[in-house]
Amino acid sequence: MTKILIIEDEEKLARFLELELMHEGYEVEKSFDGRTGLELVMSSSFDLVLLDIMLPGLNGIEVLRRIRQSSDVPVILLTARDAVVDKVTGLDSGADDYITKPFAIEELLARIRAVLRKSETSNENHHKDIIVFGALTLNTKSREVYINEKLIYLTKKEFDLLQLLLENKNIVLSRETILERIWGYDFSGGTNAVDVYIRYLRAKLEEPFGIKIFHTVRGVGYVIKDE
Ligand code: CA
Repeated sequence: MTKILIIEDEEKLARFLELELMHEGYEVEKSFDGRTGLELVMSSSFDLVLLDIMLPGLNGIEVLRRIRQSSDVPVILLTARDAVVDKVTGLDSGADDYITKPFAIEELLARIRAVLRKSETSNENHHKDIIVFGALTLNTKSREVYINEKLIYLTKKEFDLLQLLLENKNIVLSRETILERIWGYDFSGGTNAVDVYIRYLRAKLEEPFGIKIFHTVRGVGYVIKDE
């Protein structure tokens, strides 16, 4: 269940928001001051924080700065003043969005959905950067490959071939498909280039570690598959 924290000192508004959000199916917690709110963010895990700027004690911008020292939780600022400086300071401090009071609840709900969607997508993308297969870890961003946390040096083509097979796990790729994807249409070196590179990869990734990663499918090509 998606969990939202409301940090808002106007108790009536906080309760109204709580009811509306619960009605939308969100799980809600609320806090009426910055310090307690910050403690809640640090001690529990929320999917989103609605943060008022004008709070007694620790103000919203200060709360946001401290949240950002250790957390990427999406934050939408609630500001009473339509002052440009608030928005700029807020966004500079790492807010994902802001809304100016008074606001229509529909607008806030739409912004919440948008921010949650964005944070979900960025989480998915982050996970896609790292491909794990048994003892093997491949990072598509840094282009690093590890076996049991040991960094293995691969050439560009070796890396591309490994990534292609990992991204098509359990699907047998023909030598022609591999050639086309890694070497391009106009490559004239013949399909045994694929066999040569699989041999290189085996020598680097399988043999030293006594593990099996690449399977040859006779007459077709290669596959990395779950056992
Ligand atoms: Ca306030």
